[in-house]
Amino acid sequence: MESVPPCQTRKKAIPEIMPARATDLVSLDAAAGTPGCSRPLFGLDSSALSARMAEIGEPAWRGKQLSEAIYNQSIAEISAITTLPKSLRDRLAAKGWQIGRPAIVQAFQSVDGTERYLIQCSSPTPAPEPAAGPLPFELLTVEPLTVETVWMPEGDGGDAGDDPGRGPDGDPNNEPRNNEHRNDVAKDWRRATICVSSQVGCAVNCQFCLTARLGLQRNLTAGEIAGQVVAVLDRQRARVGRDRVNLVFMGMGEPFLNYDNFMAAVRLLVHEVGLSPQRMTVSTSGIVPGIERFAQEPADIRPRLAISLNAPNDEIRTAVMPINRKWSIAQVIDAVQQVPLRPRERVTFEYVLLGGVTDRPQDARELARLVRRTGLPAKVNLIAWNPGPGIDYSMPQPATVEAFHQLLMDEGIHAFIRQPRGRDIFAACGQLKRTVEG
Ligand code: SF4
Repeated sequence: MESVPPCQTRKKAIPEIMPARATDLVSLDAAAGTPGCSRPLFGLDSSALSARMAEIGEPAWRGKQLSEAIYNQSIAEISAITTLPKSLRDRLAAKGWQIGRPAIVQAFQSVDGTERYLIQCSSPTPAPEPAAGPLPFELLTVEPLTVETVWMPEGDGGDAGDDPGRGPDGDPNNEPRNNEHRNDVAKDWRRATICVSSQVGCAVNCQFCLTARLGLQRNLTAGEIAGQVVAVLDRQRARVGRDRVNLVFMGMGEPFLNYDNFMAAVRLLVHEVGLSPQRMTVSTSGIVPGIERFAQEPADIRPRLAISLNAPNDEIRTAVMPINRKWSIAQVIDAVQQVPLRPRERVTFEYVLLGGVTDRPQDARELARLVRRTGLPAKVNLIAWNPGPGIDYSMPQPATVEAFHQLLMDEGIHAFIRQPRGRDIFAACGQLKRTVEG
C-alpha cells in the first residue's frame, strides 16, 4: 500500500454498522458449485453456437435455439433443453459440452434487502499483463474461482438523473422477449440494480477499497461476466422486457483492464439476453487507453460511462488513487471528451466522500469548478465511504454529506447521493473482498 499523507491518516473507530465477525452475517444458502467445465456453451453468441452446430452436422438454426435456451430461458443443463431432440442433447453431452454458466454458491442478505453472492466460475484462466503495462499491486494467494455480484432491489440512487428514453420500461431496446416459460412470481421490488464484477480482485490499488487488498487474481471471461447477470436474473425471477433492471459494472475489478472480455460480455447481454446498453453503466478508475477504445464503440452496444473520480484535484487523487500518477485528471477528461454521447446522456463522476479528506467545503467548490471546466453533460454521484477492516479512513458525517451535496447543487452541478446498500454484508461500494467466503 502507498503511504498516505498526514491529512489522510486521522483514525476513527469503524462504526458498529459492521458485524463483529463474519459468522454474524446472514447466509441464505450454499448451493453446490459448478464443477470445472472444459467446453462451456455459455459465453458463445448465436453465430458461434451455430458454428458449433454446423461442425456436428446440425442446421445453423439450432444455434439460435441454444441461445434462446441458455440466455433467455436460463436453462443450466443441456439435458433440460427440450427444444432440442434428445439425441442431439445426448451427442452434445457425449462430446463434453456443458452449459457451464457461473453458479451462485453462496448468498448473503442484508437487512435492507440487498443480496451479495459468491459466484463460482468454471474456467480458470491466468490474468494476462494489462495492456496498459504493469501496475502497482501485490498478489495474494486466495481461492481464485469465486467472484462477487450484488443485487440491489430499488437500486442505490446511482441512476438518478439518467434518462433512458422510450420503451416499455423507458427503454427502446428492451422489448419483451420470448421467455414466458417462467411463472410470474410476486416480487417486492419495482426496479433493481445488479453490480457486476469484471475481474477477480483488482490491480488498481485505490486506497479506500477492500477489493484492492486482493490484488489482481485473474481476468474474468466474457461468459463469466455475463453469467453473473443471467444467474442473478434467474435467481430473482426477473424478466427482461418486463422488469426494470439496471446493470453497473462496478463490482470487483477494473473493466477497462479486461476490455475485450468486458465488451464481449456487453455484446452477449445486449444481443443474446436482450438487455439495453442504456441500462448499463461501466465505471472506470480512469484507464485512458480503455476510455479511448470505448469512445469507438457503436452506440447500440455502448453502456453509459462513469468515471471514478473521488478527488477534486490531482494531489488528493494521487494520494487516494495511485493510478492518477499514470493518467492525470486532465488526461482522463480529454479521453472522456472523445466519447460521443447519446441525446440526454450524461457522464457520471463517482465521488467517494472520505471524512476529512475529500468531504470539505473547499473540495466541493473545487469539484464543481472541475466538472464545469469539462464542458461535459455530467452528473456527480456522491458515495459516503463504506468502512472496511484495516482501511484507515473515516466515514463522513451525514450532515457533511448533505452539505457537500447542497454546495454542488448551489454551484449548478447535477449531484445525487448514492444510498449505501448492504453495508452489513460487505456488499457496498469498495467492500467486495469475498469477506465471508469459506
Ligand atoms: S475502487 Fe474499483 S478500481 Fe479501485 S481498487 Fe477497488 S475495484 Fe479496483
